[in-house]
Amino acid sequence: MPIRILSDDLASKIAAGEVIERPASVVKELAENALDAGARDIRLEVRGGGQRLIRVADDGAGIPHDDVPTAFARHGTSKLFAADDLFAIQTLGFRGEALPSIAAVARITMISRHADEMNGTLWKSENAQTLIYQPHGAPRGTVVTVEDLFRNVPARLKFLKSPGAESAHIAELVHAYALAYPRVRFSLVSDGKLVFQSPGSGKLMDVLVKVFGGETAREMLAVNSADDPAAMPASEDGLPDAPLAPPVVNGYITPPSIHRGNRRLQYLFVNGRWIQDRSIAHAVTEAYHTMLMVGRYPVFVLDLRLAPDAVDVNVHPTKMQVRFREPSLVYRAVQRAVRRVLHGKFPVPTVAPASPLTAPNNFLSASPTASLAALDLIPPTDGGASQTPLHLPAVAADGTPLPPRPVSAGTLPMLRVMGQIFSTYIICEGPDGLYLVDQHAAHERVLYEKWMNEREISPATQELLEPLSLELSAMHWAIYESERENLERAGFRLEPFGSQTILLRAIPSLLEHKEPRKTFLEILDMTDEGGNPIRATAEARLVMSICKGAAIKGGQVMSLQEMRALIRDLENTTAPRTCPHGRPTMILMNTAMLEREFGRRG
Ligand code: ADP
Ligand code: MG
Repeated sequence: MPIRILSDDLASKIAAGEVIERPASVVKELAENALDAGARDIRLEVRGGGQRLIRVADDGAGIPHDDVPTAFARHGTSKLFAADDLFAIQTLGFRGEALPSIAAVARITMISRHADEMNGTLWKSENAQTLIYQPHGAPRGTVVTVEDLFRNVPARLKFLKSPGAESAHIAELVHAYALAYPRVRFSLVSDGKLVFQSPGSGKLMDVLVKVFGGETAREMLAVNSADDPAAMPASEDGLPDAPLAPPVVNGYITPPSIHRGNRRLQYLFVNGRWIQDRSIAHAVTEAYHTMLMVGRYPVFVLDLRLAPDAVDVNVHPTKMQVRFREPSLVYRAVQRAVRRVLHGKFPVPTVAPASPLTAPNNFLSASPTASLAALDLIPPTDGGASQTPLHLPAVAADGTPLPPRPVSAGTLPMLRVMGQIFSTYIICEGPDGLYLVDQHAAHERVLYEKWMNEREISPATQELLEPLSLELSAMHWAIYESERENLERAGFRLEPFGSQTILLRAIPSLLEHKEPRKTFLEILDMTDEGGNPIRATAEARLVMSICKGAAIKGGQVMSLQEMRALIRDLENTTAPRTCPHGRPTMILMNTAMLEREFGRRG
């Protein structure tokens, strides 16, 4: 094929695709512009998950009439003037890409009036063609309306999720910015309904209540590294003095008794910018050390303040990632700030011998403090060992350790149960070697197949003695709304009960021994979990979540009989070697490998 230069139209659509991936990206860029313009009141409205309409109205500085065409031109920005400025960016935007990118893939209407001008401006364009540019009366500030997003980019349109799912993404984004800017009042209206509003009081706690619900928010612990006598003093503007001073860390974290099955409610901001950073999220989780079970994550909202030149924000098209000049300094500062709060409240747990007190199935029904106490009892007597991953002495020819292999697919031979280790793995002997079975994954597989086999009969439902009223966070409400039908088909009986509150009347019988409230919320979380490795129908996904919620957890002591029953049930499943999510249920150390390791065979 000959090499050709892309047409301007096509090139601009490709460029736009980097910045505008989905409706939430539009909301992000418009909200950032409003914040950069100094707005104190930002009203967002979306319809059809944002694909049909997104409108963002602000009371910020507005755009001077003569500057409007430049604002829509590629690289038109009022925020960056010289190359040097790139190393000390203080605004959320700086590339001048958002408006032209949105204009390339949607119909866009803007009404704006600059604070110093009498008259405002009306601008309208469709697929990057300007249709209207004329004076227009308007209050101070800017209203941008984006309609029919991606109508001219079918490839993108195909990848959009359901309007409910896209709305949930948008809500998550608005929550993030409301948390980062407590002084700004945000409201979000979705399909005509007010789904979120922050008061703009300047108090982060007020926003926490709106996003996580009062119950969680009130339990959260304040983090403020400036309280730390050992931390570097910050200068008057709250920024650390020297560029390489550790960041100032502010925000809130949950106590160890409140945790989630995923990282969705972990909000991290760097100089007021919402970012994603695995390493820092890890620093926070690490600070909880043994206080949380494996696979459980704290909720947090942390704002890091650094000198602008200590962080490069120009590393990613959507600006969701940053690069720190001294990553380890940041990591340590975050970990220290969080740990200081936790250790102040919860002295380091001591390790006691395993105890049969933690009977199977009790985990979810125990009170949060009881389950914490139980956790402390579970680690094995050798202390630190529970922290290191299970190490098996498999070694390659060159001496480097080999990880044990997950067992490949297929059916199972007869297994003889030998015992349990770490209250988490069942050791079995099989004809070909030693099997380590993950009790939670195995139970998930058993429950999942049982459910799927019996689903023709409608799922057994357990009526609650008294209906339970649940006040949902905005995010849970959005998931509930989009999954409602599936939840009911799976055996939950739910009724809306005022704004963001539902009545839970019945649960699937599989969950009857679980604490209904906590389990229901966990299932909402899991159903929403983005990283589901398996393409599954909404129904299967929900069933997987229910089975995961109902399955025995790692960390629960099992009797020999219980283990035998579980292994027998597992042998009878069609795919015993993986859990419904596709992770292995077991690993095998075969006889040959053992013989080699012990030098019994050359
Ligand atoms: P950037 O934010 O990177 O500068 P954008 O394409 O998002 O690029 O916006 C271009 C310019 O339009 C901004 O630099 C700003 O001057 C102006 N602008 C956009 N939205 C607003 C708004 N809501 N209020 C005031 N000015 C705005
Ligand atoms: Mg911008």
